[in-house]
Amino acid sequence: MFENLQNKFQKALHILKGNDKITEINIASTMKEIGRALIDADVNYKIVKDFIHRITKKSIGKKVFTSLNPKQFIIKIVHDELVKLMGEKTEKINCSKNPSIILICGLQGSGKTSFSAKLAFFLKKKNKSPLLVAADIHRPAAIDQLEFIAEKVNIPVFSLKGNKNIIEILDKSVIYAYEKKRNVIIIDTAGRLSIDKIMMEEIIQINKHSHPDEVLFVVDAMTGQDAINTAQSFSRILNFNGIVMTKLDGDSRGGAAITMSSSVGKPIKFISNGEKIEDIEIFHPDRMANRILGMGDIVSLVEKLQDKFDEKRTKKIYHNISKNRFNFNDLLEQIQQIKKIGNIKNIISMIPGVDRFFSFNDGINQKDSLKKIESIIYSMTHNERKNPKLFTDIKRKERISKGSGVTLNHIDLFFKQFDDINKIMKKINVNSGQKMIKDFISKMMNQKNSI
Ligand code: GDP
Repeated sequence: MFENLQNKFQKALHILKGNDKITEINIASTMKEIGRALIDADVNYKIVKDFIHRITKKSIGKKVFTSLNPKQFIIKIVHDELVKLMGEKTEKINCSKNPSIILICGLQGSGKTSFSAKLAFFLKKKNKSPLLVAADIHRPAAIDQLEFIAEKVNIPVFSLKGNKNIIEILDKSVIYAYEKKRNVIIIDTAGRLSIDKIMMEEIIQINKHSHPDEVLFVVDAMTGQDAINTAQSFSRILNFNGIVMTKLDGDSRGGAAITMSSSVGKPIKFISNGEKIEDIEIFHPDRMANRILGMGDIVSLVEKLQDKFDEKRTKKIYHNISKNRFNFNDLLEQIQQIKKIGNIKNIISMIPGVDRFFSFNDGINQKDSLKKIESIIYSMTHNERKNPKLFTDIKRKERISKGSGVTLNHIDLFFKQFDDINKIMKKINVNSGQKMIKDFISKMMNQKNSI
């Protein structure tokens, strides 16, 4: 997600490197490149023009704090403007009532049914007891699909197959939720190929009857500007609370996600970036801006890791790091932990610095990169794994290259990147449990300022 934009922004900002002052001349090329990057990402021309204008106005003639260089200064301004464009605040969903009702709507194929199940799974992990309601009375296959996904994660689905009376389905689902003590009711409604009269009448009827606490409109990020147009049209008919953007893992250029909220006047509340049930994230404009600027999104990362990481093993690794003893066994363990998390690409793109480490095999996907790293480490002796310093000896590297089938060039790159990671890791001095994670976040957040 946002990879292209991220690369182009980094190149644009690099132009400023080495300058000690911001002038109209040296900022012009950076701004031109940033503008071009946004247009390539499918951001509307007028929005880009305003964006560039605001940044230029904010930066020229401003005194740069002595502790910052112009590049850092501009990063901060671009970051703040991106956050504004993306809606500024993180907007939570309203599900504090018992039961709370969440209505999910959107066009057919937008990812509505998958999202309903993802949201239920997400809320279940937050100790809620969700009930999914299959309210697509037009497509029996949609009911089966919802049941199929929900069953795998043990979430109940209420449906009345063959019953076309939507009011009866809604009423009975609420009774069922009370009986089964479910405190969040998620209603997956029927979609259409486009917003038409029948769809709108039906959704208005469902909305009126169910009094939802939250109405979410799901859009497919791959459809770019169309996603914005659809959300705008829908908002004229139903006053929904928030937007869900799906398929941000695809090769969508990301522009719709950046400008959706300011164009529609509604916040993006969730994004979905994969087909798996856990590929759902709360949309945080500030963290998203960090990601676009390549600062990494360490807070989202930690939230994900908290769920899946084996705390004992991680604690041991951090203990080693704090004692300056991070070695190849630790790296191997980290890789095995990362592999457990699932969507490796999403995770890796969130870790500042680490993304470079895993892309050392040009054109090879991250899973294969991980395998390569593992094979390098497996070719080491036990002693070598514990003592990275032994690799000042070129003969050892040659032997590893032969054993792992990885070229000597890549082996060199691997060691260089291991050193880089080690440097980042050493800055993280953590002790245990919650404190470990809090320190980890704050250290990483502080690193933002030292870019
Ligand atoms: P609905 O018709 O709106 O209910 O859409 P579905 O939930 O059936 O999704 C349509 C297709 O998009 C399915 O193949 C989903 O697996 C896929 N899909 C949904 N969300 C995502 C996502 O975030 N990323 C990717 N890659 N595919 C998704």
